Amino acid sequence: MIYADNAATTVLDYEAFEAMKSYLLEDYGNASQPYSFSRKSKKALKEAREQIACCINAEPEEIFFTSGGTESDNWVIKNFGAPSKKKHIITSQIEHHAILNACKHMVEMGARVDYLPVTREGVVLKNDLEQCLAVDRSLENEDTLVSIMLANNEVGTIEPITELAELSHKCGVLFHTDAVQVVGHMAIDVKKLGVDFLSASAHKFNGPKGIGFLYIRKGVKLRPLNDGGAQEMGFRAGTENVASVVAMAIALKNNCTHVDSVTKRLKEMELSFYKALDQSNINYIRNGSDNRVPGNISISIKDANGEMLLHRLDLKKICISTGSACDSKNTQVSHVIKAISVPNDYAEGTIRISFGKNNSDKDALFIAESLINILNG
Ligand code: PLP
Repeated sequence: MIYADNAATTVLDYEAFEAMKSYLLEDYGNASQPYSFSRKSKKALKEAREQIACCINAEPEEIFFTSGGTESDNWVIKNFGAPSKKKHIITSQIEHHAILNACKHMVEMGARVDYLPVTREGVVLKNDLEQCLAVDRSLENEDTLVSIMLANNEVGTIEPITELAELSHKCGVLFHTDAVQVVGHMAIDVKKLGVDFLSASAHKFNGPKGIGFLYIRKGVKLRPLNDGGAQEMGFRAGTENVASVVAMAIALKNNCTHVDSVTKRLKEMELSFYKALDQSNINYIRNGSDNRVPGNISISIKDANGEMLLHRLDLKKICISTGSACDSKNTQVSHVIKAISVPNDYAEGTIRISFGKNNSDKDALFIAESLINILNG
């Protein structure tokens, strides 16, 4: 099998897997208990928090463990600002559904949401945010949050977060970024990014599923996610998933250590794939900007059907993803492919290939050749 859907999830780092075992079978004490049996769990949580903080240049007390990207995103969108004030959220048209559907919920609760458009490359423009914020400043009775993803999960485009966050702060507005596709794949420095909140998910960087974290900048207020015990400094009650937290920290550290060499290999795989496709007669367009998450390829093929391609590649034991999905009547083109204005005769033929550290040049060539063979029928 060739697994090339690493933007969906990744294989667990072996060292991380090994480290989990002892916290499940031997040192399983509840980290909140005062007896010595629980000391190892408590120490492991502390060290994991320090390690994760170090990987993104944050302070340990700014890292809050969650169940993953969806929970981190929901926490911020639903809990920022003063309860007594009306909420205003400015986000983009190409966010993950963890943000878009949380915003939908907020609208039902009386909030106002603006969805910024993007360019054909999937970039949010500073001018568009500026205009939106200029209108916002006249509404004094509202609390506003800007939430723009660090990189898009479908087309890989990296957004100009530093300048968008700076602009938001100038207007006295909080800034959140969904960095789920970037953490563990590119160097992250929360201080340089200048964000107030940052969401991450372990299973995207070779950690376990169902664990992630939210960075909350020191001094920034966010209402607690869960009420209950005193875990996560009283902000996210619930007995900690120590084994997964430990594995997440190891996976992140390992990925960050090798980020430059892995990036170089992923870029080579991208080149091999494109070269093979360009030498064929396939009529396709590349989606996303040149400034993309390494290894993420999104292409739209003229008069093709992405879902059919996914299934035909699956028969060859190749896992990829699409930018569209068929229901019983129609092909639904994703909100991202629509927002970047992929022409109609290409949109339904969108596929995403996302290479990971375990892929090779050989995989890239095999996928390209298989795709060409299928399309040339
Ligand atoms: N945000 C982005 C950009 C994602 O790609 C994903 C997962 O696909 C999520 C959020 C949700 O993360 P999780 O699967 O950890 O809930």
